Amino acid sequence: MNYNIYFSLTSLVYIVLLVIVFFSKKRLKTLENRIYQRLIVVSLTGVVLEISQIFTCMVMEKIPLLNAITSRLFLVNILLWISLLLVYTIVISFNKKYHKKLSLIVFLIFIICSVGFLVLPIQYYFEPTKSLYSYTYGMSVDLLKIVSISFLLISIACMLLHIKELLTKKYLPVLIYAVLFLISGIIQIIKPTLVLTQSVQIFTTFLMYFTIENPDLKMIAELELARNQAERANAAKTDFLSSMSHEIRTPLNAIVGFSQSLSEEDLPDSTKEKARDILMASDNLLEIVNGILDISKIEANKLEIVNTEYDLHKVFDELVLLTKARIGEKPIEFRTHLDESVPAVLYGDYVRLKQIILNLLTNAAKYTKEGFIDFKISTIQSGKACRLIIAVEDSGIGIKQDKIDKLFMKFERLDLEKNITIEGTGLGLAITKRLVELMKGKIVAQSVYGKGSKFTVAIDQKIVAEKAVATETQIDIPLNVSGKKVLLVDDNKLNLKVASMLLGKYGLAITQTLSGFEAIDKVLAGEKYDLILLDDMMPKMSGVETLKKLKGIEGFETPVVVLTANAISGMREKYLKDGFQDYLAKPIDKVELEKVIRKYLNS
Ligand code: ADP
Repeated sequence: MNYNIYFSLTSLVYIVLLVIVFFSKKRLKTLENRIYQRLIVVSLTGVVLEISQIFTCMVMEKIPLLNAITSRLFLVNILLWISLLLVYTIVISFNKKYHKKLSLIVFLIFIICSVGFLVLPIQYYFEPTKSLYSYTYGMSVDLLKIVSISFLLISIACMLLHIKELLTKKYLPVLIYAVLFLISGIIQIIKPTLVLTQSVQIFTTFLMYFTIENPDLKMIAELELARNQAERANAAKTDFLSSMSHEIRTPLNAIVGFSQSLSEEDLPDSTKEKARDILMASDNLLEIVNGILDISKIEANKLEIVNTEYDLHKVFDELVLLTKARIGEKPIEFRTHLDESVPAVLYGDYVRLKQIILNLLTNAAKYTKEGFIDFKISTIQSGKACRLIIAVEDSGIGIKQDKIDKLFMKFERLDLEKNITIEGTGLGLAITKRLVELMKGKIVAQSVYGKGSKFTVAIDQKIVAEKAVATETQIDIPLNVSGKKVLLVDDNKLNLKVASMLLGKYGLAITQTLSGFEAIDKVLAGEKYDLILLDDMMPKMSGVETLKKLKGIEGFETPVVVLTANAISGMREKYLKDGFQDYLAKPIDKVELEKVIRKYLNS
């Protein structure tokens, strides 16, 4: 029976398949990959030589030179393969400086040995009765055995230097080759006619295909393309949303402004009621626009946490006021408690913190008909860190246990049969959770359906000052701004009308202009104003550009406040950085407007 030819033919099939797969794919141009490429070629020539040698043995007596050449070349090929494996081991074990020198030494030894294989005596064992049944021995073969074992031992030494990584993908083929080499060596001692050297090399080469970094570059390129397309689509979505926000806010500004004015005028109650309904619907629409913008910004990783020093007492008071307004006339007891030991000054993003808590308080107010809302902030302090534990509990409709998981998902509104009359988008808690995570905090929801819910948030803030500073008492100075001059700049006539109407109540002298150019002309003409309210998104010259030009005018010191529909999160900070004194979002909030008037115009 002839074993060797079967092994050789099987190896040939494997290696041909490997050559086709490997060379038909685009590859990474790493050093390891280049060595592997050579290993495959050497494996292929090895099988061809092995098969040739088996056949040349049969004509050994007739053409002895042919058999000598194939047999000796076969030995060279075997050592070349082992040398390449050693170089591979050296490359993965040492840095560039060393592996270059070591590889050169290996190469020199290989050349010297190859000369040895060609000149040293070689004998052939051949059984003519069992055709194709042969092997070689003699000094040439002994030299190959000695060098092969030495190279393998060096490879093992390299591996032992990195014993922890021994079972990692990179060393695995070397380790398996060492084991198979040993086994095939033992087999050959027992049964010299069974030559497995080449088969073991082919098997190792085949195995290496799966362990060497060999990603499908074509697929990576396609994925990259798909990612770029998705990123572009996402950027287009964000752009669309922010321009949509602007487009919706501009008419909304007029709706809110005029309905507010109507609700305060001396009109029949039913008309006033309708005006208030329009106001409520507008507020809801505004909330939706803001929510969509916030979530898209968070998802695009564009929302940054801006840390500043702040006073938690102030934030707490503001939240209480806003919630009281939201509860309105409902028979709800609003209990509040702020830990007395709260440090006077904390460091963190209080704007986001406020947004998180306000979302929870608003929900409590929305989903509670009667009973209580409990708002508590306690603290755990250690060193310079302060953990805020914020709890908002209500006696509202509650949430079913199996729905709690869905609570923080986008656009999820639960219990719709009960909630149908309550306005909402299902975005509030999704935004809240993402904001809490951005601030490296945690949020938990507990609820008993029909009884009430409790949301608890834990967020760490830094402590700036331990001792409580006397909170500045706000004395309500009477507003006296009558006759003060205000310049309004907006390209939209309706917006000018709304702003003039809101400002007119304070008895201000208002000048309207439809562009930055007009405003600059007026200032250049020597007109003096006490305040300028400047729109940003205007054709030809934006508000930011107008501001730059105004600031370039000698002696110009008038405070300029941006009045813009560009109200996505982070815009206030952007405009303040651009040099505006303050920021007002459209639709204009009456309270915010009065704050600005008080700050810049009250004498
Ligand atoms: P929205 O209130 O705009 O619908 P949220 O994301 O804030 O969206 O809340 C998602 C859903 O979770 C709500 O529709 C409501 O069903 C439920 N929910 C949130 N807070 C409460 C609460 N305090 N009590 C009862 N249900 C709540």
